[in-house]
Amino acid sequence: MPGQTMGIIGGGQLGQMMALDAKQTGMKVIVLDPTPACPAGQCADKQIVAPYADRAAIEELAEKSDVLTYEFENVDLAALEAVSDRVAIPQGTKLLAITKHRLREKDFLHRAGCQTAPYQAVSDAASLKAAVATIGYPAVLKTCQGGYDGHGQLVLKAAADLEKAAPILATGDAILEGWVNFKLECSVMVARNPEGEITTFPVAENIHHNEILHETIVPARISPATAKKADQAARRIAATLNLRGILGVEFFVDAAGEVYVNELAPRPHNSGHYTIEACNFSQFAIHNRAVWNWPLPKISLLSPVVMVNVLGQHVASLRAQIGQHPTWHVHDYGKAEVRENRKMGHVTILTADLEATLKDVAASQIWHTEEA
Ligand code: AMP
Repeated sequence: MPGQTMGIIGGGQLGQMMALDAKQTGMKVIVLDPTPACPAGQCADKQIVAPYADRAAIEELAEKSDVLTYEFENVDLAALEAVSDRVAIPQGTKLLAITKHRLREKDFLHRAGCQTAPYQAVSDAASLKAAVATIGYPAVLKTCQGGYDGHGQLVLKAAADLEKAAPILATGDAILEGWVNFKLECSVMVARNPEGEITTFPVAENIHHNEILHETIVPARISPATAKKADQAARRIAATLNLRGILGVEFFVDAAGEVYVNELAPRPHNSGHYTIEACNFSQFAIHNRAVWNWPLPKISLLSPVVMVNVLGQHVASLRAQIGQHPTWHVHDYGKAEVRENRKMGHVTILTADLEATLKDVAASQIWHTEEA
C-alpha cells in the first residue's frame, strides 16, 4: 500500500522505471546496487551501495522493505532464500532457478507445451559431436548460465567450427540448439498476480543489431493467428510457472507463422519499454501491481509505436537532434559513464504510420553505424 516500502535488487534502467512507477503510486523505494547514484538510485528514497550478493546488504534491504523484487535474473538465490522469512518476495526463487539455466528453461518450456528450437545438453567435446550428429548444421552452442545478448554463444556452420567451442565448453554446462530459420523475432510481456489473474501486452516485433535490441515495433508485423499463438504461449507459461510479477517471452517466428520460444526474462524487458507511452498501463506499473497483489487490468494499445534503443555511440547525435524531433519521447537513464554498446536510454515514437516512422528513424542517421 502507498507509504510502504519496495526494495529492488539492481539499480539499472529497469529498476529505475519500476521505481518511478512506485513513487507515482506513493510507495517508498530502496535500491541495492554497487554503483553510487545508479539509474534507480537517482529515483529512489534510498540506495544501499553494495554488491548484489552482499549478504549483510540484502539483509538490510529485507529489514527495511515490505516487499522485495529484482530487476535482473542473476540474483544470488541463496541470499534471497535466507531473507524470505523477513520480507515478502512474491516472485519467489523457483522461477529464477529455471530462467538462469538455459537447459532447465527449455525443459520447462516443453512441459508447458511450447515449441522451441531442437536442443540437446552438451558438456564436452564428445557430447557436442554427438549433439551435432542429431541436430545438424547450422546450430548454436550456448552456455547454460550467465550468457546474455549473444555473449557465451557460438554459431556452428560446419565441422571446422567445432574447434572454436572449447571456451564455451570450459564454462560448464552448455546446450546445442538447432538453427531456427526465422523471419522475425518478437516478444510478449505477461504478468500474473498471486490471485492468479493474468494479463498480456501486445506482441512486439524486435530488430536486433549485433545481438543487442535496436528497435521494437508494435503491433508486430505478423498475422492475427500468429499473434494469438504467441499470446497463448505466454499465458500458458505464466500459468504453468505460477508466475507472480512480469515476465518477457522471446519468440522466433518462421515464414509459416509458427512461433518458437527462444528465452524467458523474469522481469520487465527492454522490448516492453514502448508500453510506457503506448499502452494504458506500462510494463513497470503492471509488474508492480502484480508483486503488490493489486488487480491486473486488460491491456490496450493506445497507438502504434516504434521504440529505438540509444546506446553509448548514439548519445551525442541524439542530443544534437532533440530540437528537430518534437514528437519523440526521449528517455535517458542518467548513467554516468557513456560506453559503446551500453544501453543509455531509448526513444519512443507514437505514430499513425509505422513504415514512415521507421524511415524517419533511419533518415536521422543517429543509428547509422548499425545500419551500415
Ligand atoms: P539469445 O541470447 O538466446 O537471445 O540469442 C541471441 C540472438 O542469437 C537471438 O536474438 C537470435 O538472433 C540468435 N539466435 C539464438 N539462438 C538461435 C537459434 N536457435 N536459431 C536462430 N537464431 C538464434
